[in-house]
Parts: sequence; C-alpha cells; structure tokens
Amino acid sequence: MPEQRQTIAALSHLLGAGEVSSRELVQASLDRIEEQDKELNAFITVTAEQALAAADAADLARANGTAGPLAGVPMAHKDIFCTAGVKTTCGSRMLENFVSPYDATVVERLADAGMVSVGKTNMDEFAMGSSSETSYFGAVKNPWDTARSPGGSSGGSAAAVAAGLVPMATGTDTGGSVRQPAALSGVTGFKPTYGRVSRYGIVAFASSLDQAGILALSAEDAALVTQVIAGFDERDSTCSPAEVPDYAAELDAPLKGKTIGIPKEYFDAGLDSACGDAVHAALEVFKQQGAKLRDVSLPNLSLAVPTYYVVCPAEASSNLSRYDGMRFGHRSEDAGDIESLFKNSRTEGFGDEVKRRIMTGTYVLSAGYYDAYYLQAQKVRQLISDDMQRCFDEVDIIAGPTTPTPAFKIGEKIDDPVQMYLNDIYTVSVNLAGLPGISIPCGSVNGLPAGLQLIGPHFAEARVLNFAHRYQMETDWHKQVAGGGQG
Ligand code: GLN
Repeated sequence: MPEQRQTIAALSHLLGAGEVSSRELVQASLDRIEEQDKELNAFITVTAEQALAAADAADLARANGTAGPLAGVPMAHKDIFCTAGVKTTCGSRMLENFVSPYDATVVERLADAGMVSVGKTNMDEFAMGSSSETSYFGAVKNPWDTARSPGGSSGGSAAAVAAGLVPMATGTDTGGSVRQPAALSGVTGFKPTYGRVSRYGIVAFASSLDQAGILALSAEDAALVTQVIAGFDERDSTCSPAEVPDYAAELDAPLKGKTIGIPKEYFDAGLDSACGDAVHAALEVFKQQGAKLRDVSLPNLSLAVPTYYVVCPAEASSNLSRYDGMRFGHRSEDAGDIESLFKNSRTEGFGDEVKRRIMTGTYVLSAGYYDAYYLQAQKVRQLISDDMQRCFDEVDIIAGPTTPTPAFKIGEKIDDPVQMYLNDIYTVSVNLAGLPGISIPCGSVNGLPAGLQLIGPHFAEARVLNFAHRYQMETDWHKQVAGGGQG
C-alpha cells in the first residue's frame, strides 16, 4: 500500500499492473481521513459505503478489461457539485440538508471514468471567500501549519490533496478559488477556460465567472482529469462545443523559443518579496529550457478587484434569490406569513459574507445605481480582458505570482473584508477575461508554499498544462509535503 502521496498517474499504473486494488486505495484514503480530518476539517461529508462499493465496481471493470485509466482512483468533490443521493451543502446552513436529485456533469463524467468519490469537501459558504473560514461547518486548516488558512473557497479540496487524503479533488474558480488555495496549500490548481467544462449541477455563484477546476499533485494529473471533464454539454448553454484535444499528448512539448510575458504590475509593492523571489527563480527554470521572458503590462490591474467585487456580487444576489425557504433549503420555523417566511429563512440560512454580497449586489443593480456601478464595471471588465488579449499578441503565456503572500493565519483577515478581497488581486482578472490558468508550487517562504501562476489564451489549456508540466519535470516543489520530505 503506497504510504506517501501518490499521483493519479502513479496510482493508475499500480492499478493497471494489479499491484494494488481500488478497494485498498479507497480504504487507505478513508483511513487517512479518519486519522487526520478531525483536525483539518477538510470534509463535510464522507461517503465510505458508496465509495467502497464504487471501488469494487472499478476493480471488477479492471479485471474484465473494461476500465479506463482513471478507474479506481479515489478523489473528492467540493461540496458545491451536486451529487445525487449525497448532501450538497455548499458550506451553508441554507443547504445543510439539501440532497440533489441529480449529479453535476463533472460528477457524472468522473464517475463514468471510474473515479471513486470518497466524499464532499469543505468550502467558504457559497464559494464566497478566500480562506475557507466562512463555512457554516467551521474553518479548514492548512496542513502546512494548522493555525493558518489553506486558502479558499476550495480550501477543503486543497487541504485534502495537500495532506494526501485523496490524490485529486474538484474545485470551482469564480475569482481564484482553485488557484489561490492551491498556492497556499502547495498543490497544483487548474482552472480551464470559461465554457470548457459544463457548469450544470454546480451551485451557481456568479454565472459569468464560475468555472469548475481541479486540485491535484501535478499538471500531468490535471491534464488526465481535464480530459474527462471537458467538452460540450447541452445542459449548460455557455458550454463550448469546441473539440477537446488530447491534453496528455502535448505535455512534454519543448519550450524552446516560446515567450513568457511577465506583467510588471504583478510585482508591485503589494507582493511579499520572498514570494516574488520564488516566482523569479521559477522563471529562470523556464529560461534554462529555452523560453524567452518579456515584460508586458496590464495597465488596468488595479481595477480588477473593484470590478470583480461589483460584477460578482451582482450575479450572486440574483442567483441566491432562489433560496426563499419555499422550494428547497432552510425554512424558518418562525414565520407567520409569506413575507416573514422569506425574510427569516434567509436571515437564518445565510452567513455574514453571503449577506454582504447579496446587499452589495442588490445595491449595484438597483435603479439609479445600475449605470454608475454595474454598467461601469462591465465596461472596465472589457478593458481588463482587452489588456490580457493584447499580451497574447506578443507572448505565448503570462506568468506571475498566484497570491501576494503565503498562507495567512486563520482569523487574520476575516473581520476585514477589503483585506480578504485584496488577496484575489492576481487571480480575478483571469475570471473576468474567462481565461485558463494554473497555480503550481514554486518555492518555500518561511516553511510555507509559494505559488506560480501561468495564464493562457482562451482554450489554450494544453499550452498552460505543457508549461506547468515542463516546470515540474525540472523541479521538486510540487513533491514537497507538509512537515518536510517528499511524496
Ligand atoms: N475569493 C473570491 C471571492 O470571494 C473568489 C471566490 C471563488 O473563486 N469562488 O469571491
């Protein structure tokens, strides 16, 4: 039984060679969760019984020769993905007892590929946050230092992968929620292009920004999983019909002659100098492989956080109007009439950050303020997107830090929303522009992981994964485990 963290690629090989069974892998994953998750709080729901049954089915498929490469490998889903018959809470009291009647497309496709979900991971309430502290189910701890946050909102998935509880977990990235927790937890976090992966069955937060992503141990693993989840789905009208290329085939492509754009605004005063040093050291690795570095500019970067925090709450306030205590979700006991039923159900069901977003969003959409805020933000969104597009006329990929600092302490920013929002400075533009991006571990700052972010043009997933994989072929940062050593 593999003791260390193992990649999906390695586990798939062991399973294929008959050196381990899916039941053994899944049982080991469940045992680790049992041992470590009281402290980490990475899981909201563990589905041991279903997981073992699915593992047996995967073992049978392997024995019959009908299994695909991912069959039998354990994984977990962020608790924002609807799972038929298993609770989907979205980290909220509002959905504490919600059981979806159907699976999200991502859930369905991974199950069809034979991957075995062991449960649902903890997250910021309705994916609103950068620290996984706004969860109704309590904060998630960072395996590198349990006094610190693993980032958010997919913090449960990031912590679970970092601690080796599962080799891969799904996440969603509306403003950075896959890449930022990956950076703070020392794992690989990949967000495909908006529309590359179906949003069907993902609890909606901000629909023009939401995208499913992957937290894993390597870019190679991210490629294997993207291969399965990407592609057209008629149940999501924004899902692209573009053909899905063979991501693994391009992973090794040489980088000689390729150009990497370095946005100077990403290295401004807000960036922790040691994180900046780690990114610069990573860029040298690309240079050694024959890639060229070029300075580029994203002149509207300082407007990205304010723009995001208008567009995102606007869409959230609209999406979250469905939680009225009538159809599904929390219903207040204390309701005399229809008005107080709506009001009290929402008052009791939502936490502070969700209420803050609903209020901000409703405000910017209201008559009289719509033009000044929402419409203006939409225009600036276009400028931010144009800036990035212009860079790609000159360079193949954009590189920079994922976050301004390494993991911060639990409690440090939760009472200061603006400080929390500023943590998203390097990630939100990518969502505003709908681009693919990845965060990969690139160094250590006071014993905590630092993240390198790579951003590509629309639908250039293969290129982003190729750059990340080439870096991981030359370095060991993605193999470092919390508490020292490699795995
Ligand atoms: N931290 C950002 C926010 O709070 C992004 C969240 C996300 O990507 N789900 O909105």
